[in-house]
Amino acid sequence: MAAPEDARMTDPADLARRVREGDIRLYELEEHADPETAAAARRHLVESETDADLDTVGDYAFAAEDVDANVENLLGAAQVPMGVAGPVTVGGSAADGQYYLPLATTEGALVASVNRGLSAIRAAGGATARVTDSGMARAPVFRVRDVAEAQAVVEWVREHTADLRAAAESTTSHGELLAVDPYVVGDSVFLRFVYDTKDAMGMNMATIATGEAAEVVERETPADLVALSGNLCTDKKPAAINAVEGRGRTVSADVVLPREYVEETLKTTPEAMVEGNTRKNLVGSAKAASLGFNAHAANTVAAVFLATGQDAAQVVEGANAITTMEVRERGDGDDTDGDLYASVSLASLEVGTVGGGTGLPTQSAALDVLGLGGGGDPPGANADALAEVIAVGALAGELSLVAAFTSRHLASAHAELGR
Ligand code: NAP
Repeated sequence: MAAPEDARMTDPADLARRVREGDIRLYELEEHADPETAAAARRHLVESETDADLDTVGDYAFAAEDVDANVENLLGAAQVPMGVAGPVTVGGSAADGQYYLPLATTEGALVASVNRGLSAIRAAGGATARVTDSGMARAPVFRVRDVAEAQAVVEWVREHTADLRAAAESTTSHGELLAVDPYVVGDSVFLRFVYDTKDAMGMNMATIATGEAAEVVERETPADLVALSGNLCTDKKPAAINAVEGRGRTVSADVVLPREYVEETLKTTPEAMVEGNTRKNLVGSAKAASLGFNAHAANTVAAVFLATGQDAAQVVEGANAITTMEVRERGDGDDTDGDLYASVSLASLEVGTVGGGTGLPTQSAALDVLGLGGGGDPPGANADALAEVIAVGALAGELSLVAAFTSRHLASAHAELGR
């Protein structure tokens, strides 16, 4: 062990040398230097052992000391270009008014595509959006002796949900336990705890609260906790339970686009859009046994997640969406002038406006673009509104991409007809 030559070291090269010599571990640098110097030392070390130049990685907008809850072994930051689409009018239960949508992406054409869809929605006077269900799930798995004991544990849980609620809610001033749904598989008992986490995405909140409740289950029943997450939650894995039961916000958006706007802005027809949506998003997705029945909802979800500091891995379930389209007759007796009804429903959109990465400088600025940074009034209103705006953004993306496919079809049809 080297002498403590470093009460607080200030030279990144010296620190890097000590890591290289095995004197300090990579993750111990903050114990020997302030967080900025520690990150600079890591860059120095990695640069010296690879061919990388990390100057741009070291050029970041946050304070290193502010991100210790977000990342370990800080090296710097990865920048993602951010564009903006809109504005669009959202008539939601929480979102109400005009919104610009910040989108962080490296995929050219994505922002333009969402913007084109939003233009069509804007021309139609805006979209409607509603959060129809809300609840963050954490599902621990317990070991029991056999199915008879499993049944006894399930019965106890059903009779003592109030005790579990008291334990869980003792860990949070915002979270509320909504339900505990038991599932039994042989000698395994899963308890799916579902919480109203207000404006937090809630995964830490739900995990801490469930840990407290699980202790009560272990104390009062023969069940032994095996894992605080038993994968029935389901977090960051594609899962039908999220598609059916929902997780985070379950949110839908819809719009009726007058035929003229479909033709002028999207360069296609309602009928072609409906056929494209049916054959591609519904039939194609069914044939592929896809969990999502949409064109590219993940694109909008991922870009808003990156821009606003959401947990990027939750795009897995956040993009679980169904897109529908139909021609709506105007009721004027003319069955050739129908408008386009389109909807997108996201089953499990896990979003927050507090906690996680939402407080970082560029991410909180992006939330400010939406006017949705921090806690809502009442609590939960900002995260509900964010979910509704994302749903409208996803709807715009669906309209634009389906139109792009079908207008190509239309263009070739025109070429044939014009001959
Ligand atoms: P968090 O940053 O851990 O905590 C947010 C806290 O903010 C809440 O617990 C709450 O404190 C407080 N708060 C203040 N105003 C609030 C308001 N208006 N509404 C709700 N809460 C408010 O965030 P989290 O959302 O629980 O967890 C998100 C983090 O979990 C992300 O960083 C994500 O990457 C990570 N994550 C964790 C796991 C896991 O298994 N632990 C899994 C996936 C992701 P009180 O509770 O004291 O009221």
